[in-house]
Amino acid sequence: MIAQNLNIVNENINKAMKRRTRVPKDSPVKLVAVTKNHDINAMREAIDAGVTDIGENRIQEARTKFDTLGRQSIWHLIGHLQTNKAKYAVKMFDFIHSVDSVKLVRNIDHEASKIGKVQDILVQVNLAGEEQKSGVAIDGMNELLHEADSLEHIHLRGLMMIAPNYENRELCRPLFRKMYEIYIKTKEIPFKRANIDYLSMGMSHDYEIAIEEGANIVRVGTAIFGPRQY
Ligand SMILES: *Cc1c(COP(=O)(O)O)cnc(C)c1O
Repeated sequence: MIAQNLNIVNENINKAMKRRTRVPKDSPVKLVAVTKNHDINAMREAIDAGVTDIGENRIQEARTKFDTLGRQSIWHLIGHLQTNKAKYAVKMFDFIHSVDSVKLVRNIDHEASKIGKVQDILVQVNLAGEEQKSGVAIDGMNELLHEADSLEHIHLRGLMMIAPNYENRELCRPLFRKMYEIYIKTKEIPFKRANIDYLSMGMSHDYEIAIEEGANIVRVGTAIFGPRQY
């Protein structure tokens, strides 16, 4: 099942890439397979079927999985990170997508320095201004980007956004488009250390639209693993 679903998702990604108008059609898109609430067996099946990048939301859950799977995949933290859990995050995750405050990025830098690591991060932007969602507000974005750029153990790599779960997925399109414009502007900022080359947006219900509008990382769970059991 997982291998078949993965094939379908990969085909959809390839088709969406060809429909792009603002992005060169051959520029790559990275698929992060989101495994929260799915077990180790499902993860192994996905890795055997060719998944290279795994996304997890919670530190606790990721730790048990990481203990078993180790570096068989590239690990992405996509869920909200509490400042006091930064020390666990830097040990496991190759990319942290959910950096949304100056306090958090300073803590990640501090913990990364202790283990001699330079941590790749993305800044999560709350573009829709949704109250319950994490992510830095547009007003606070520049301050956070510059803070991240100033820290020696942080490598700022791009931006992340979660679109609202609209029933009509086309409603996400203007947000993705806006986010792509912000990403292009961010690329033009003369940073010291940062390399802005990732735009992480799009989930199971909207990844094709996100790609059409310029995403180059999509985070897909349900479309690969089926519905999550809570
Ligand atoms: C759970 C989650 C996903 C994957 O969601 P699906 O709808 O299952 O594809 C992607 N991004 C984030 C931040 C998530 O929390």
